[in-house]
Amino acid sequence: MTPEETPAIEARALRKTYAGDRTTPPKDALKGIDLVVPQGSIFGLLGPNGAGKSTFINILAGLVVKTSGTVKTWGFDIDKNPRQARASIGVVPQELNIDPFFNPVEVLELQAGLYGVPKSQRRTMEILEAMGLEDKADAYARTLSGGMRRRLLVAKAMVHNPPVLVLDEPTAGVDIELRKRLWDYVRGLHDRGTTIVLTTHYLEEAEELCDRIAIINHGDVACCEPTPDLIARIDEKTIIITPEAAVTHIPPTLEHLGAEINGDGQVVMSYAPSRQKMEVLLSAVHTAGISIKDLTTQESDLEDIFLQLTQSP
Ligand code: ADP
Repeated sequence: MTPEETPAIEARALRKTYAGDRTTPPKDALKGIDLVVPQGSIFGLLGPNGAGKSTFINILAGLVVKTSGTVKTWGFDIDKNPRQARASIGVVPQELNIDPFFNPVEVLELQAGLYGVPKSQRRTMEILEAMGLEDKADAYARTLSGGMRRRLLVAKAMVHNPPVLVLDEPTAGVDIELRKRLWDYVRGLHDRGTTIVLTTHYLEEAEELCDRIAIINHGDVACCEPTPDLIARIDEKTIIITPEAAVTHIPPTLEHLGAEINGDGQVVMSYAPSRQKMEVLLSAVHTAGISIKDLTTQESDLEDIFLQLTQSP
């Protein structure tokens, strides 16, 4: 992002406290977060249940009123320019609320009408096809399965062609084939310039799709950085060596490097790639007289980072 480029979304000191009542105390769902989504990114918002993700998205969608702080979408302040701020973003909610008496074409046409999209610019069938709903174009919404309803909601959020599309758990309950189709469509939209924000429980999805990831935990931003940086943060790699001949004990030179024998008789060595060269470890194995039959390596993934950042103290 160049310094002069307006962020797609910019939250500053954003706080939301849900008022309590006689039985429940007030709840700080967002504790004054700063979050910047650059234009052109596919931005992942991760966090365990109750972290504050939906609260954030619902503030963007105008469904929840923030307690304090500022939010801008595409440069429009949601307090000062609510109409433009809302027009800049399409939000796909988590819940599957669709009027049961409309069919998908009508749902999209109605939404396009609400947002003032001229008939000549509507892409109803294109969007339905992308969501795998072309066969259901004329079916009553109440006859759609849960997965189809979710896809219809994604379609609905896209009709006014907003520069920012926010997807709240878009692929929850969607089978793997359709998930891939949805990812492809999201990538396609991104390629054509749409900034995407998505919340997901599937770490694999974030790793696969997102170029930047923020992890929210207990109403705070635990981290926000490019996906490769996040993954590089866990500086640990493991080498697993299957020896030609059984190894009964680890020679001291290898023990020194932290080598161990696992239950399968393999020699396992964990190391920090930033400080240690694999070459050095392998030559130590060689010097110890162990000949290598096979070798595999393991790296940490997002799951490890996520657990590290969100484990309760
Ligand atoms: P997430 O989407 O990450 O699961 P939420 O934003 O839904 O998290 O919730 C954040 C916190 O705020 C949770 O502790 C939740 O119980 C609380 N919360 C959410 N909505 C309300 C509400 N309408 N009234 C009171 N507390 C709420």
